[in-house]
Amino acid sequence: MTARVLVVDDVPANVKLLEARLSAEYFDVVTAMSGTEALAICEKAECDIVLLDVMMPDMDGFEVCRRIKANRSTHHIPVVMVTALDHPSDRVKGLDAGADDFLTKPVSDVALIARVRSLSRLKMMTDELRMRALTSREIGIQDPENQAIADAGRAGRVLIIDDRASSAERLSTMLSTEHTADIEGNPGEALFHAAEGEYDLIVVSLALQDCDALRLCSQLRSLDRTRNVPILAICDGEDNARMIRGLEIGVNDYLMRPVDKNELHARAKTQIRKKRYTERLRDNVQQSIEMAITDGLTGLYNRRYMESHLGSLVEQAAARGKPLTALVLDIDYFKSVNDTWGHDAGDDVLREFATRIKKSIRGIDLACRLGGEEFVIVMPETDMAVATIVAERLRRRIASEPFAIAQGTRHIEVTISIGLATLDSAADNAATILKRADQALYRAKRDGRNRVVADAA
Ligand code: GH3
Ligand code: MG
Ligand code: MG
Repeated sequence: MTARVLVVDDVPANVKLLEARLSAEYFDVVTAMSGTEALAICEKAECDIVLLDVMMPDMDGFEVCRRIKANRSTHHIPVVMVTALDHPSDRVKGLDAGADDFLTKPVSDVALIARVRSLSRLKMMTDELRMRALTSREIGIQDPENQAIADAGRAGRVLIIDDRASSAERLSTMLSTEHTADIEGNPGEALFHAAEGEYDLIVVSLALQDCDALRLCSQLRSLDRTRNVPILAICDGEDNARMIRGLEIGVNDYLMRPVDKNELHARAKTQIRKKRYTERLRDNVQQSIEMAITDGLTGLYNRRYMESHLGSLVEQAAARGKPLTALVLDIDYFKSVNDTWGHDAGDDVLREFATRIKKSIRGIDLACRLGGEEFVIVMPETDMAVATIVAERLRRRIASEPFAIAQGTRHIEVTISIGLATLDSAADNAATILKRADQALYRAKRDGRNRVVADAA
C-alpha cells in the first residue's frame, strides 16, 4: 500500500514540484495552499504524512504543526517541515512544535523520498496498532492519545553507542540533563547491552571504528528485544548516502556533527514520545485481548473463553484416549452473603474464592468464572478419582478458613458445593459433560451443600 502525502505550500509552483516528484515514486499526493486547509484534510484522516512549508501567510508552518500535534485525532501523523531556514535554532523551533523531520529547500530528491518512505512505513505500523487499540478505548481502558499529547518526552533511558570516549562523554553530558544516559564504548557489546537494558532510545555514532555501524543498526532492528527502540544516528559531515541507507534499514532519525545540544534534545524527545505512544498502543491491544477472555472481577477466564476452549479440549482428549474431568462449583447461600454483608463483601468472597481455586489447580487446568457465583474447572488428563481428591481438597480449603471481607475487618464462613463429570463416551461433548456436572452439583445442593458429588454415569 502506498502512502498518501499531503503537500502544503502557499506557492503553487512549490506544490507542483513536490507533487511531481512524489507521484513519480508512486506516492498518492493531496495538496493544500494554506494551514487551515491542511488541518481540515488531516482531521478527515485523508493523509499519512504531511510535508509542510514553514513560511505561509495567515498561519505559519510551526503553528499548523503545533495544532496537528495537539489534536488527539491527528497527533500521530508525521510532519516534515520544508524550510529555507537551516539553522539549528530553526530546527529546534520546528521540533518543539512537534515536527518529525526537516527538509531544506531546495529539496533533494533522494532525501525527500528516503524521509517520506521511512516515516510512512512507521505511520502504517502505528495505524494498524491504533485500529486494534480502538476497541479497547471503546471499553474505556487508558487512553493512549491523551497520554501521548501530555507526554513531554522527558526522563527517558538512553543508550549511547560510540567508541570515541570524548564524543560519547559529550553526548552523555548533554542528554543527562533530562534523561538517564548509559554509554557503550565497545560496539561488540552494544547489541547485548541494548537488549538487556530497557531503553527508550539508542543513539549510535555512524563513525564507529572497527564495526559497521549500519550493520549494528540493522541488527538492532531485527532483534526482538530492541526492534521497537528508536535509533538516532549521529553522522559525520554530509555523508548523505550512508544516512539515507540508514533510514532505509530502520534508523528513525539522525543528527549531523557538530551536535547542537538543543537539536539533540528536541530529536530525542520526539523519538522517546513516539516510542512510548506505540508502547501504550501495544499494551492496549494486549489488554483488550485479555479483557475479551478474562473475567474482570476474578481474573479467571470468562464464559466466552471457556465455551470456545472446552470444545477443543474435549475433542483432543477423546482423540487421544485421555481422561478429562470437569468440575462445576457454586458458593452455598451466596445470596445471603450479599444480603447480610453487602455486595462489596460478596465481591471480596468471589475474588478470594478465585484465588483459592488458582492455588488448588495445575497449570494445564482451566479455571473459569461462568458468571455470578458459579465456576468451572476443566482438568485435562485427569480421571474422576483424582479430580474427586482435588475437588475435596478445594472444598475443605474453602470451608476450613473463613474469608476476609470489609478490608479484612471481618471474617465469614463460606462453603461450596461441587459437581463432577468425566468424559466417558465418544458421543460426549463439552455440553453433555457440563450438563452432567451440573446435575451432580444439583444433587450436592439437595443433599445439604458443602459437599462434592460425582456424576454416577
Ligand atoms: P445456593 O446455595 O443454592 O447456591 O444459593 P445461593 O444463594 O448461592 O444461590 P442464588 O442463585 O439464589 O444466588 C446467587 C447470588 O449471587 C445472587 C446474586 O445477587 C449474587 N451474585 C451474582 N453475581 C454477583 C457478583 O458479581 N457479585 C456479587 N457480590 N454477587 C453476585
Ligand atoms: Mg511559503
Ligand atoms: Mg450459590
